[in-house]
Amino acid sequence: MRLDELSSVEFEKYMKNKPVVIFPIGATEAHGAHLPLCTDSVQPERIADDVAERIGGLVAPPLRYAFHSSTRNMPGTLTLNLDTTKMVVQDILESLIQNGADKLVVLSGHAGSSHLVALKQACAAVVKKYPEIKIMVLSDYDLVRDYPIDQAGDGHGGKIETSRLMHIAPTLSRRAEAKGHYVSHGYMVIPNPETSMPSGYVGAAHEADAELGKKLNDFITERLVEEIKQSFGEI
Ligand SMILES: [Zn+2]
Repeated sequence: MRLDELSSVEFEKYMKNKPVVIFPIGATEAHGAHLPLCTDSVQPERIADDVAERIGGLVAPPLRYAFHSSTRNMPGTLTLNLDTTKMVVQDILESLIQNGADKLVVLSGHAGSSHLVALKQACAAVVKKYPEIKIMVLSDYDLVRDYPIDQAGDGHGGKIETSRLMHIAPTLSRRAEAKGHYVSHGYMVIPNPETSMPSGYVGAAHEADAELGKKLNDFITERLVEEIKQSFGEI
């Protein structure tokens, strides 16, 4: 159930049952020529909808902006600063808590390490202020790593992400024409980090398929339901 599809009166009634509230955080980011800019948004939104249906949870309105480093100069990537990311997430979480939420899941489709640190800092600040609140923060890609498939060399916009998109948004995505390569600059900090990904993606996105995507998405949903039950108790 999407939180903002309820009326104020329905919402108030729904919150009396103390549902788990899932907050999907996406991004607007370049993902090669074969995937849409909303790639990192539609993945956690789909997982959030599926998980909420399984556990009677609510899905908070998604945030479709994130912090970006390696793709920041690519056309279509819209980025927040790290501090803004932390503050906007913290504000939204506190507002959900003031509306009665006490079990929160922050689910990020963008798995950039700095971005995830900003989300973790936001959650840590909220928990410090409201110690009785339970919050979980993760990327759906944290759960993908447990899926039994060779993931070596697969990355941003690669085989796994493209497969997931072909299942979730078939009209917006397609298999790439060739493998995407990563070009290392070692430990150098450079002004043009996009040169690390000449085709805008990394991995065998030409081998992606929607059937694998469905298996991956189902697997993530299943794993997240398990994690929620383990962390929040039976719900
Ligand atoms: Zn992505």
